[in-house]
Amino acid sequence: MPIVVDDASGYQGEADRWLTPESPEEVSALVREAVAAGIPITGSGAGTGITGGRCPKGGWLISLEKFRRLDAGPGKAHVGAGVPLKDLQAAAAKTGQFYAPDPTEYTASLGGNIATNASGSRSFRYGSTRRHIQSLTVALMDGTVRTFRRGEKLDFPYTPIPAPATTKNTAGYFLPAQGEWVDLLCGSEGTLALVLDAEVQLLKLPKSILSGVIFFPDDTAALAAVEQWRGIPQLQMLEYMDEPSLVMLRSQYGEEIPRAACACLMVEQELDGLPGDPVDEWVERMDSAGGLEDSWFGETAKDRERFRQFRHTLPELVNQRVRNNGHHKLSSDFAVPIERNADMLRFYRESLRREFTGKHTIYGHIGDAHVHVNILSESHDDFVRGGAWMRQAAAHAVSLGGTVSAEHGLGKRKLHLLPLMFNPNEIAAMKEVKRILDPKWLLGQGTIFPDPFITLDLDVSI
Ligand SMILES: Cc1cc2nc3c(=O)[nH]c(=O)nc-3n(C[C@H](O)[C@H](O)[C@H](O)COP(=O)(O)OP(=O)(O)OC[C@H]3O[C@@H](n4cnc5c(N)ncnc54)[C@H](O)[C@@H]3O)c2cc1C
Repeated sequence: MPIVVDDASGYQGEADRWLTPESPEEVSALVREAVAAGIPITGSGAGTGITGGRCPKGGWLISLEKFRRLDAGPGKAHVGAGVPLKDLQAAAAKTGQFYAPDPTEYTASLGGNIATNASGSRSFRYGSTRRHIQSLTVALMDGTVRTFRRGEKLDFPYTPIPAPATTKNTAGYFLPAQGEWVDLLCGSEGTLALVLDAEVQLLKLPKSILSGVIFFPDDTAALAAVEQWRGIPQLQMLEYMDEPSLVMLRSQYGEEIPRAACACLMVEQELDGLPGDPVDEWVERMDSAGGLEDSWFGETAKDRERFRQFRHTLPELVNQRVRNNGHHKLSSDFAVPIERNADMLRFYRESLRREFTGKHTIYGHIGDAHVHVNILSESHDDFVRGGAWMRQAAAHAVSLGGTVSAEHGLGKRKLHLLPLMFNPNEIAAMKEVKRILDPKWLLGQGTIFPDPFITLDLDVSI
């Protein structure tokens, strides 16, 4: 009996077997057996992905959930692919350190984070997962297990592909001239190798962090503040929520959210070593930007967690509403170069107001010119029009020099966006890399590229 496999997007696939190997030798044996028999393999982490990447169209699901090594030492940690991000953070905190990537969803596995080059709110200061990986141990499709250290160059011929001028990107393969193995495999969405283990960089935990949720009476003031605040020293988070997002959050937070609030920015600033009184400085900044007096500020870890929970509640509410409406989530992951942020937001606001009044939210990583638009379909017609809107918005982001996927990857639900960003020669060059590492095209079939052997059901694509 086929086993149903889904992920946080609600996309469903089917596996003939769900395998949970415990050692590199077991993974290697499974890969050799599958390749000899021509059986497709899909790697799986915790299933929090939102593009259907881990949902196979048959074959074997190889879940790395039993790879749980976790040793945190000074400056680095050895982490098995199946370790949840929250466990890694807890182990790092015990040593006075932290792991910088912060993709909001703490139950995600490190292997999944590496496969999608996850980033999240703190990437504003620290960049995405790729930057923090020092070595990767992977199972390749010839059945070998290899460890690639940072700096180890790709040792096969390939055509370099220009990357967009955005601060983050997870669309297609990362193939700069003189590319490195670690960088290529990180973000390849489980289509080139199975990640077993990694050595990740840990940073010293700051002694003091100021967090704020700053409410604004209108969007214009909030967006002007974004441009003014980007250069604030040691700012590690600059997140945005629009009015419809706040309306949704009021269902849980009620009067805690000021009545006059129509937009909000969330900030975190590391205070260690900063001169002056940062709290006073924030009060001044807020006043001159037109922020509301009853905004929230805090300096304790408890405050920070409370504010982060506020942020995390939003995508959960969106997912719940979409589920209740009985439709798949339509959510964008486009980013543009920082200087095009205002242009992209103008496009979002004007076209969404016109076409999806009362059925959309915009929130996310505005510091990186990377916000998520969610269309909350209430009918099949909304869903179809929403899909068309997403394609149009992706093309607009690309026309501004942006990316069709900044942090979630394309998986199966968004692979049709790849040709908007890369020309046929560039896609052919990526496929050539795939063929070198996976000659029978068995790993992660139907993710990033349409599968060459089966017809994909693309009716849920966005
Ligand atoms: C509420 C919510 C908020 C989120 N916010 C963010 C955010 O702010 N930033 C962000 O970047 N992401 C975010 N995500 C997305 C998600 O957390 C990431 O995509 C995560 O990295 C997926 O990890 P996972 O272990 O769940 O992987 P899965 O969903 O199991 O798999 C994801 C992909 O990785 C591949 N894969 C998984 N493990 C391996 C492995 N060991 N080897 C090879 N391939 C593998 C799979 O084949 C699939 O293609 C959010 C998700 C949710 C539900």
